[in-house]
Amino acid sequence: MTEPTEAPAAPKPTRIAPIVTTDAKSFWDAADREEFVGQKCGDCNQFTFPPRPMCPHCHSLNRVEVPLSGYGTVHSWTIPRHPHPFGFKEAPIVAVIQLDEGIRFVSNVVGVAPEDVKMDMKVEVMFEPTMGKHKVPVFKPRGSK
Ligand SMILES: [Zn+2]
Repeated sequence: MTEPTEAPAAPKPTRIAPIVTTDAKSFWDAADREEFVGQKCGDCNQFTFPPRPMCPHCHSLNRVEVPLSGYGTVHSWTIPRHPHPFGFKEAPIVAVIQLDEGIRFVSNVVGVAPEDVKMDMKVEVMFEPTMGKHKVPVFKPRGSK
């Protein structure tokens, strides 16, 4: 008698879930849907990112969510080794990503060896699961799987 074949269970995510603030809730809700969004001022049309209640340019409270391309370049990066970051088997590459829209986003670079990360390396967004069934945007070398 043969046992029914079961797909191996995906390993449980160990990455910590995002801390969702009221101002950034729509950003994280979008990330759960694997959508990468930013926020613009509804009056002066400049980015107000990370999401916040008031435009830092014109003090308007009129906010508009806009889709982001998910493309950018590595502006700077570091690898926090001590203390070892909770939730990561290997220390992650923590990077400032210069998004094509002109704003910067702190994230992780994945799918590349630490020694191969380069300044201005072209990257694109992808989403990794976290504890609590959420997702966070991270960046991989553009065009890689
Ligand atoms: Zn404004």
